[in-house]
Amino acid sequence: MKLPSRPPIMPDNFSRYRDMIAENLSNIRNEIEASARKAGRTAEKVKLVAVSKRFPVQNIVEAFVAGQIHFGENYIQEVQEKNRQLPDAVQIHFIGHLQSNKAKTAVETCSMVETVDSFKLGKTLNKFAQAADKPLHILVQVNIADDSAKAGVTAENTEKLLTELKGLAYLRIKGLMTMPPFSNNPELSRPHFSNLRELAFKMAEKKLFDGELEPEISMGMSNDFPIAIEEGATIVRVGTAIFGRRPR
Ligand SMILES: *Cc1c(COP(=O)(O)O)cnc(C)c1O
Repeated sequence: MKLPSRPPIMPDNFSRYRDMIAENLSNIRNEIEASARKAGRTAEKVKLVAVSKRFPVQNIVEAFVAGQIHFGENYIQEVQEKNRQLPDAVQIHFIGHLQSNKAKTAVETCSMVETVDSFKLGKTLNKFAQAADKPLHILVQVNIADDSAKAGVTAENTEKLLTELKGLAYLRIKGLMTMPPFSNNPELSRPHFSNLRELAFKMAEKKLFDGELEPEISMGMSNDFPIAIEEGATIVRVGTAIFGRRPR
């Protein structure tokens, strides 16, 4: 599915950002390690998703060469274009708002959809996953702070949505994802992160997630990922701190 439609990108067309990306990744991995240790956790339980939205595919390849496997994208059309030029081993997490008419492409191109927040979207994804005979890993996006500017199911309605989604045979519900209200002070995210972790463990006790493993908890971005890790994140989504300021 990911066979390149053009010649693969070769080292001679690496961009001038290659070294910067490798260095940023290395620094972030060190920070992940330090935050995990501080919280008495192990860094192996924290997956770094490099958010590459609006950055050219060359930058993804440069990060991949530096050992990065998981990437986050917000726009399906962009995923589709990039996916054709990327090696199979690259795994794309969809972290944007997904419209039902893009669900088929999401199933075909993404290893995980982190932003399921309605039964309707879940049903559509399930239908295409079944047609492709390819179970899809998903997270349920929770609007943990009841922020009117953010997508996601409310904390209150999360159990109901998980229960409905659990009936869909081709979805593998791995955990929860959230984006707290934006703030310049990352400490303000901490209570929201802590609330999401509590909610995830409560839902796990009710066996609402797939498998026996601990739930995935996707939270924390460039400005607050160390705090998210201290509060239990298993997936952090970091863009700017790896790739620099996003092009418009
Ligand atoms: C863009 C984005 C990120 C990354 O944000 P940075 O501040 O650049 O690290 C993380 N999560 C989601 C859902 C995003 O849309």
